[in-house]
Amino acid sequence: MLDCGRMKDTNCLFCKIVAGEVPSYKIYEDEHTYAFLDIKPVNPGHTLVIPKDHYVNVFDAPKDLWEKVMGATHTIANAIHKGLPIADINITTNNGKHSGQVVFHSHVHVMPRYENDGHELWHGKPYQEGQAHEVAAKIKTAL
Ligand code: 5GP
Ligand code: ZN
Repeated sequence: MLDCGRMKDTNCLFCKIVAGEVPSYKIYEDEHTYAFLDIKPVNPGHTLVIPKDHYVNVFDAPKDLWEKVMGATHTIANAIHKGLPIADINITTNNGKHSGQVVFHSHVHVMPRYENDGHELWHGKPYQEGQAHEVAAKIKTAL
């Protein structure tokens, strides 16, 4: 059950999962976080770790809450690694529609991985001349 006053978006699928209004295979829950099986897993055991409060993604979630989600992610990743022998793990979070975010309630994917399981990672592109210097300066200025 949600605490009184917990931040919730009544139209949000993952808020409904936290509230028990939409069923899920719950893996873990603590005061601030909730973890459940992804309905369309990369591999069986693919788990989503979310804050119970409604935040869209890393751009609006408070840092202390994000740290709690990452703490729960550590717990889940190690449980998957232990509980599903030979599973390695990818930990991914999509933030914004161009990154592939489809559900706009902040979440971390914890994905069991196996040799030749067919799941592709990104293909990196080399920097152009001067580009690394420029982009590093822009990010550091924004810190
Ligand atoms: P995103 O692309 O936003 O990072 O990932 C959203 C994830 O939510 C997808 O992997 C998708 O399979 C999962 N998902 C979407 N709808 C449901 C649902 O109703 N229940 C569960 N358990 N997972 C869902
Ligand atoms: Zn929500």
